[in-house]
Amino acid sequence: MRKVSIFGATGSVGQNTVDLIARDPDSYDVVALTGGANIALLAQDAKRLNADIAITAYDSRLEELRAALAGTGIEAAAGQAALIEAGARPVNWVMSAIVGAAGLAPGLEALKQGATLALANKETLVCAGKLVLDTARKHNARLLPVDSEHSAIFQALVGEDMAAVERIIITASGGAFRDWPLDALEHASLAEASSHPNWDMGQRITIDSASMFNKALEVIETREFFGVDPSQIEVIIHPESMVHSLVGFRDGALMAHLGAPDMRHAIGYALHWPDRRDLPVARLDLAQLGQLNFKAPEDARYPALRLAYDVMDRGGLSGAVFNAAKERALDAFIAERIGFLDMARVVEQVLDRFEANPGLIDAQMTLDNVTQTDHLARQWADEAMAQRAGR
Ligand code: NDP
Repeated sequence: MRKVSIFGATGSVGQNTVDLIARDPDSYDVVALTGGANIALLAQDAKRLNADIAITAYDSRLEELRAALAGTGIEAAAGQAALIEAGARPVNWVMSAIVGAAGLAPGLEALKQGATLALANKETLVCAGKLVLDTARKHNARLLPVDSEHSAIFQALVGEDMAAVERIIITASGGAFRDWPLDALEHASLAEASSHPNWDMGQRITIDSASMFNKALEVIETREFFGVDPSQIEVIIHPESMVHSLVGFRDGALMAHLGAPDMRHAIGYALHWPDRRDLPVARLDLAQLGQLNFKAPEDARYPALRLAYDVMDRGGLSGAVFNAAKERALDAFIAERIGFLDMARVVEQVLDRFEANPGLIDAQMTLDNVTQTDHLARQWADEAMAQRAGR
């Protein structure tokens, strides 16, 4: 039996992972499940999968979790230290599906145990790529991609020599506003940004798809994961979301990965890797599909993409700055305190302020420095938003 843990079990990726594991209970010994505010679901799945421990991120919810697990023998815990302790429990495989920078520390802890880390939490590599890759190398741990784009790229590269790779083409649905007139974006509402044309995902990533901040994070994640030069990474809009990404080789060949837009593809590949097993996902009917479309993303519609290339050029801790400022701006958009296009303006303003303080950006990439930079970037994002509100 493989020992597994699921971080962020109550979320969209977490639930798809629970679904796959629950279908094959004799193959897995579930150690830790973590969640946030959804205590009922966390307790329900901990019982369903017979986990050793369930952990909520919030101290204030511990009693509720304890009560929900009373009499089951399943341990309950809460808070940041407990999440990190969960990461330190020895397992073979961990799903990293906490949303945001909060996923970094538990994931790093799992790598230190030599576990295979299935990485849905793209912020881990965006904020601390070098630190994460060095930790994995040092502890002989493996990272496997779970983002559908990175899983597609990873699969297209099986058996290939990286020296033969000319370019990586990341597909993007274009999000909720891909066909909107540009001048309407300024007034796009929260409800409008929260509905994705193809994928059923958490609210934050759905809004990040509309702004392409999600794609911007994926571009940076691609650079870190596959070690390619930023100039080799392209983004293309593909409204059907059937081609999950492509790799172009020096002989001109393009290898694409196609499949239905169902996260259980990529999660299942990471769960069973290096094998392929049956997965309960729809099969594509190409004749019925008829055609696939592609178009270049417009800079004015998706300013986040340009910022991603600036971040890669800058290096250092600018990925942590970018992500933290983005998370804060997204919080404010969700609270309806700033407009849709203000998110990119705020992030750019924070990046510029850090650029004027190179000592901060070029600090050594340790977990402490990443965390401090993250906090400062959030504070500067709040200041930038307060300034905008005062205008
Ligand atoms: P969700 O918002 O659906 O779920 C996030 C999970 O993290 C939940 O379990 C949530 O708990 C928990 N959580 C929230 N805040 C904290 C915190 N501060 N500390 C610890 N845990 C917390 O997110 P998704 O599943 O959509 O995304 C998860 C990650 O995977 C993200 O990094 C995303 O970019 C990436 N990803 C998502 C895809 C998708 O299809 N959704 C596709 C590819 C990548 P609770 O809900 O109980 O509050």
